[in-house]
Amino acid sequence: MKEIILANPRGFCAGVDRAIDIVEKAITKFGPPIYVRHEVVHNKLVVRSLESKGVIFIDELAEAPSDGIVIFSAHGVSNQVEDEAKSRNLKYFDATCPLVSKVHHQVERYSKLGKIVLLIGHEGHPEVEGTMGRHNADHGSKIFLVQDKEEAEQLNIPLDSHIGLVTQTTLSLDDTKEIIEVLKKKFSNLEMPRNDDICYATQNRQDAVKQLALESDFVIVIGSKNSSNSNRLKELAERCGTKALLVDEFQDINLELLKDCNSIGITAGASAPEETVQEIAKNLGELFNFEIRSMGENKENIFFKLPPELR
Ligand code: SF4
Repeated sequence: MKEIILANPRGFCAGVDRAIDIVEKAITKFGPPIYVRHEVVHNKLVVRSLESKGVIFIDELAEAPSDGIVIFSAHGVSNQVEDEAKSRNLKYFDATCPLVSKVHHQVERYSKLGKIVLLIGHEGHPEVEGTMGRHNADHGSKIFLVQDKEEAEQLNIPLDSHIGLVTQTTLSLDDTKEIIEVLKKKFSNLEMPRNDDICYATQNRQDAVKQLALESDFVIVIGSKNSSNSNRLKELAERCGTKALLVDEFQDINLELLKDCNSIGITAGASAPEETVQEIAKNLGELFNFEIRSMGENKENIFFKLPPELR
């Protein structure tokens, strides 16, 4: 049978749901414009839709007027950004995912203990900038970013240093495991987070895409190019030996690539809307005359509360 297979779970996670909800509730309560520092979640269609409702996305707080309502994105911000908002008396809401905030608290705790902090993550990603910016050197602590196994091997710090380890929430579980193995072998006083920092949504979507890749001739990952967790899904499908494509919407798909496929797997990154999944599945189903079926179960039932003023 020729088929389209939809992975489960896929798409929006609790942190993305909450961040979008915060922006929409703020528009309803205060009226447009609402200033959002950085793309609230990394998805072109979500950003476009919020812009049409009156959101202005800004790179720096300086771009917001002093009477503007500001929202921090789900990726989190540094202490410096929060301090700037406070010193300007801006009214702001923090849409940082609580699972990212948890990592911030770990960095703050390690800083106070004077430990060396190692952050596994990708340079330039806003979550990494925010997490690095939660570090405080007052107690002699230092922070280093480790991006891969090679950087872990080359870390030039005393081998008996007291080290606290944290990770970006949306990495590849396999890559992170390899880096942690190197660090564990090298350093004797390494404190790991009690539970992995990689979040439940990243983990579940990665598990699902591995199965999807095994059952499909081609995997389409719905997500934006700047979405870390979506990129990891594409990489994982490819590592399983299945060709994969990362697309924002149906128009981005090169249909030539799919013409000899008997099964097309579809998944979506944690910031990609379900409407896009349904639209792509429907269009491909009609075009190639494929059946659509779901694979796996979505057992996620996590919900994060909104800030009290927006409930
Ligand atoms: S991917 Fe994970 S850390 Fe990121 S917003 Fe979603 S739940 Fe939070």
